[in-house]
Amino acid sequence: MLVEKDIVILGGGIAGLWLLNRLRAAGFAAVLLEKSALGNGQTIASQGMIHGGLKYALSGALTGASEAIADMPAHWQRCLQGEGDVDLRGTRLLSDTYYMWPRSSVRSRLTAFLGSKLVSSKTTEVSAEAVPEFFKGHLKGPLYRLHDIVLDVPSLLHTLGERCRAHIYRSACRIDHDANGNIRTLTLDNGCQLQAKLYLCTAGAGNEDWLSALQPPAVAMQKRPLQMVVVKHHIAHPLYVHCLADQFSSTPELTITTHPCQDGAFAWYLGGELAEAGASVDGSAQIARTRLKLAELFPWCDLSDARFHSFYIDRAEARQKDGKRPDRDSLLHSGNVLYCWPTKLTLAPSLANAVVERVATLGITADSSNDAPLTALPYPGVAVPVWDTL
Ligand SMILES: Cc1cc2nc3c(=O)[nH]c(=O)nc-3n(C[C@H](O)[C@H](O)[C@H](O)COP(=O)(O)OP(=O)(O)OC[C@H]3O[C@@H](n4cnc5c(N)ncnc54)[C@H](O)[C@@H]3O)c2cc1C
Repeated sequence: MLVEKDIVILGGGIAGLWLLNRLRAAGFAAVLLEKSALGNGQTIASQGMIHGGLKYALSGALTGASEAIADMPAHWQRCLQGEGDVDLRGTRLLSDTYYMWPRSSVRSRLTAFLGSKLVSSKTTEVSAEAVPEFFKGHLKGPLYRLHDIVLDVPSLLHTLGERCRAHIYRSACRIDHDANGNIRTLTLDNGCQLQAKLYLCTAGAGNEDWLSALQPPAVAMQKRPLQMVVVKHHIAHPLYVHCLADQFSSTPELTITTHPCQDGAFAWYLGGELAEAGASVDGSAQIARTRLKLAELFPWCDLSDARFHSFYIDRAEARQKDGKRPDRDSLLHSGNVLYCWPTKLTLAPSLANAVVERVATLGITADSSNDAPLTALPYPGVAVPVWDTL
C-alpha cells in the first residue's frame, strides 16, 4: 500500500520531536518514524542543560555560538509555561539555576570577565546564605549563578511525544534513493510504502547511514566522542555546577548535573573536560580519573558507598572544517531531504525555526487529505536514562 504525507521526519530525538510539534501546529500532515525509543541517542544521554552560552564566551570573545544561544533559556522558560512555540507544560524542571565554581587560579581573571558589560546581566555572585547546601561551609572563593536551567530529559521527551502521539510510529525504514539523492519511497515494518513532499532526517548519528548511501555524498557529518560518568549515591543535596579549572577555556573541567533515579537514589552525571579527554581511555581508567577528580574537588564528600559507571557516546553534528563544535544548529539541504542537527538540545527551537522557514521557501503546503493514520505500527515509548538501568 502507498501512503502519502506532507512531511516525514526520520528520528525521534529532541530535533525530530520539536519539529513534529511545530509542523503539526502549522497544519502539516507530518509523521515521525523512530526505529527504537524516543531520544535513544544523544538526547537521553544529555545533561538536560538549557544554557545561554556563557561557557562559550569564557574562552574570550563572543563567538557565533554564544550569540545564537543567548536567548534560549528564556525561550524554553516560555515553552515550559505554555506560552512558547511548543507547549512543554508537564516537563519536569530539575533546576532553575546553574552554578559556576572557579578554582583560585582563575578567579581574578574570571571576576574581571564576569564584571564586563558583555556578561554582567547573565551572572550573579551567590551570597553566603544562598550557597547550595552541598557547598555550605566548604567554599573558599566565590560561586556564580547563571540563568541557565536543567530539565528532566525523560519527562521532556514524554511531553513532546504525548502531544503528537497519534503521529509517531516505531518502525525501521528502508529508504529508496534516486541517483540525485532524492528519497523516492520509504518501506516500513508493516510493509507500507510512504511518500512525502519533504523528508527531514533527524536521526543524529543515524543520519550517517543514509548519507553514506549517497554517491557522491552531498552532505557530511562529524562525530565527537565522549566518555560520560554516572555516580549513583544517596546524597540528597543536588549539584548543578561547572567546575572551572586553571585553564580559561570553553570546556569546564567538570560539568555536573544531578538526576533523581526511579529507585530513590540520586545520580551525578559528569561531563565537561573529564568526558572529552576520557574518550580515549578505557572504562576503568576513566573511573579512576573520576574518583581522583571528585576527591580533589570535594574532599568533604563521602562517596565510599557510591557506584561508578561510564559509557561512550558520540556527539553527532554537521561536519566542520576544523572538526570543532559547530557554532550553531545545522540544516543541510539535498534534493527533497533536509538533514538536521541541533548541535545542542538547547538549540532545537532555533533548528525548528530554520526548518519551518525552509518549508515555506520551498513552497510546501499543508494538505489534510494526507493525514490518514498509519496502521499496525506501535508508539515507540521513551528511552530510559542510563542511571535507571544500573
Ligand atoms: C553526553 C551528552 C551530553 C549533552 N548534554 C547537553 C546539554 O546538557 N545541553 C545541551 O543543550 N545539549 C547537550 N548535548 C547535545 C544534545 O544532546 C544533542 O545535540 C541533541 O540531543 C541531538 O538531538 P537529535 O535529535 O539530533 O539526535 P538524537 O538525540 O541522537 O536522536 C536521534 C534519534 O533518531 C533515532 N534513529 C537513529 N537512526 C534511525 C533510523 N535509521 N530510523 C529512525 N530513527 C532513527 C534514534 O533512535 C534517536 O531516537 C549533549 C550531548 C551528549 C552526547
